[in-house]
Amino acid sequence: MSRVYNFSAGPSMLAESVLQKAAAEMLDYEGSGQSVMEMSHRSKVYQGIIDSAEALLRQVMNIPDNYKVLFLQGGASTQFAMVPMNLMTGSGKADYIITGQWANKAYKEAARYGKARVVASSQDKTFSYIPQTKREDFDPQADYVHICLNNTIYGTKYPALPDTGDVPLVADISSCILSEPIDVSRFALLYAGAQKNVAPAGLTIVIVREDFLGRAMDITPTMLNYVTHAEAGSMFNTPPCWCIYVCKLVLEWLRDEIGGLEAMKAINEKKAGMLYDFLDSSRLFKGTVEKNSRSLMNIPFVTGNEELDAKFVKEAAAAGFVNLKGHRSVGGMRASIYNAMPVEGVEKLVAFMAQFEKENG
Ligand SMILES: *Cc1c(COP(=O)(O)O)cnc(C)c1O
Repeated sequence: MSRVYNFSAGPSMLAESVLQKAAAEMLDYEGSGQSVMEMSHRSKVYQGIIDSAEALLRQVMNIPDNYKVLFLQGGASTQFAMVPMNLMTGSGKADYIITGQWANKAYKEAARYGKARVVASSQDKTFSYIPQTKREDFDPQADYVHICLNNTIYGTKYPALPDTGDVPLVADISSCILSEPIDVSRFALLYAGAQKNVAPAGLTIVIVREDFLGRAMDITPTMLNYVTHAEAGSMFNTPPCWCIYVCKLVLEWLRDEIGGLEAMKAINEKKAGMLYDFLDSSRLFKGTVEKNSRSLMNIPFVTGNEELDAKFVKEAAAAGFVNLKGHRSVGGMRASIYNAMPVEGVEKLVAFMAQFEKENG
């Protein structure tokens, strides 16, 4: 069997050793005589799995003790509502920076529950850069400032966190979680759908500072209140058991095989660097993002000719480089090179692009 190099924005590749471990443990998890998919989430053996997943995440991300880690469902999209319902309850105001479609969806959802305000946007240039902000731009009364740290569709990442003064920062880190170290203590809350860098689809990770719990609006459904899940150790109802188990395997891989987030960052910089260097020197392909806002995870590029773009996507797929078509709002191509994409996958993609340029340039 030959595996393809999958450049999908999500769900995306998982490390081969993780898949092999999951396969080896499929029929009999550690002598339990059953797979993790089948076992009761109230069993002792499953409690061990979710406990080690949390402990590993805390260790790998260096999460301070005064933060809760929640394993939820509903995707990052459910957080677009949970964040305002739980946090927009002081002044009832929140500031949003619009750096793409996900940030905009988060803002629109928040506007249903309170006074959400757009502080800055990069829509004027198809979200190809991260807008600059100053401390004075933010409402000191706002309950929080919401950002999307890495913009999956447009391939941008904040070069530095915005200075929001005393206003707490909330970030969607769906497409950059675990890609490099992050100072959790700078945030009131972080959230991520797991299907880009952590696990199969179906798991959402929330990391929330304890003093932001217990402020939810009265209308908040029980299932959408962070307190419900924090008090129940993410076991208020049946959690996404299998996804949490794979999350544990991915974290073991990250810690033991990769060597942690500093090492992961170096590998990610190497991979992204190879592709950006090629794009910067190519006569056919060019990147679409301003240099100081470039993402390590999602790299959009174009030839400037739609027919040639389509030809490239088709020929690349035939050669084993799949899901390179760009998002419809940007066009062209996008290579998502999450943690599990091997260096060799990017090397081979660049070689393929160089050959395509020779033949079509
Ligand atoms: C994929 C993605 C989402 C949507 O996640 P779901 O889990 O499908 O709801 C939100 N934000 C960002 C930054 C994403 O990359």
